[in-house]
Amino acid sequence: MWILRINMTDRSYRLEELPEAYKHLAGRGLTSTIIHDEVPPTCHPLGPNNKLVFSPGFVTGTAAPTSGRISAGAKSPLTGTIKESNAGSEWPQALASMRIRALVVEGQPQEKGKFWMALLSWDKANGKPVVAFEPADEYVGLPTQEAYNRLFARFGNRVSIAGIGVAGERLYGNSGIVFQDIQRRATRYSGRGGLGAVMGSKGLKYIVINREGAPGVQLADEALFEEGRKKLTDALRTHNVTKPKGALNTYGTAVLINIMNEAGGLPTRNFSSGRFEGAPNISGEAIFEGNKQRLGKELYNHACSPGCIIQCSNTWHKPDGSDTSPVWSTNHPGHWVRIVVSTIWMM
Ligand code: SF4
Repeated sequence: MWILRINMTDRSYRLEELPEAYKHLAGRGLTSTIIHDEVPPTCHPLGPNNKLVFSPGFVTGTAAPTSGRISAGAKSPLTGTIKESNAGSEWPQALASMRIRALVVEGQPQEKGKFWMALLSWDKANGKPVVAFEPADEYVGLPTQEAYNRLFARFGNRVSIAGIGVAGERLYGNSGIVFQDIQRRATRYSGRGGLGAVMGSKGLKYIVINREGAPGVQLADEALFEEGRKKLTDALRTHNVTKPKGALNTYGTAVLINIMNEAGGLPTRNFSSGRFEGAPNISGEAIFEGNKQRLGKELYNHACSPGCIIQCSNTWHKPDGSDTSPVWSTNHPGHWVRIVVSTIWMM
């Protein structure tokens, strides 16, 4: 297993063997540990000493259900503390297929306002990942989906992309890092903590992965893995929250809106209140009923990443029933809290 370091000061990269101390870490545990170990606590979040770390989970890239998740971490420009933000996509599966446990983006280019993309692929001859850098200025300022469409046209539909939009380019504190969903929509966000601004501050617009030829994830004990995979699959398929047509598949993560509101934990008007009078209108139940009216039939949610059997990701349809994608694609409770907070704040 490797740690891949990309240095944006001189656009170089380096592969390191995963240190023994990190062997039992992945995902959030690893991103936060690397930031703790390597980022000076007093550094400016948008300066050269901050680092942006990506790490897939231990079983990401295997047949384990609902494991296509990526953890992104950095010192946050929003909170000033170690931040972790998670998203579902095939991008982490592509990263894991190259046996990369963490990708660390370091440094900062001298030239401001110029953007680059890092192209990560598998070098079959040498049996390891390689990185090339290309200018990305032609995508700056474009609507995110349009930019992604152009990238897929250029590199082919099989690549996986992590990137920033206009907010990240402008270093906004609310900017996220976006990954594609299964339909190649740029809708899966690591939305918390302003990590898009950290990526933007490094002049990095996209990380494009072409996993062709990559060896895939190695299982230490295939029989034991299969036993665990079956157990987990059975549990998810039978639990009321995670089963097909269960709470998440029907209402998405926004099923929590009414629950949190009832419990007084729905941040409202800058958290001066924990209850919002309009919560039922923006709840998962309201989305389900609204889609039903507009489509004339029930619509259950879809998977944001290959292999997810919970399938909690909503789409919201126009009054004529057509798909407004890319639109809201819910992820975890924090995404909904942000939408609710901004909605309430604007009222
Ligand atoms: S569809 Fe929902 S449950 Fe499945 S990986 Fe995506 S966010 Fe998680």
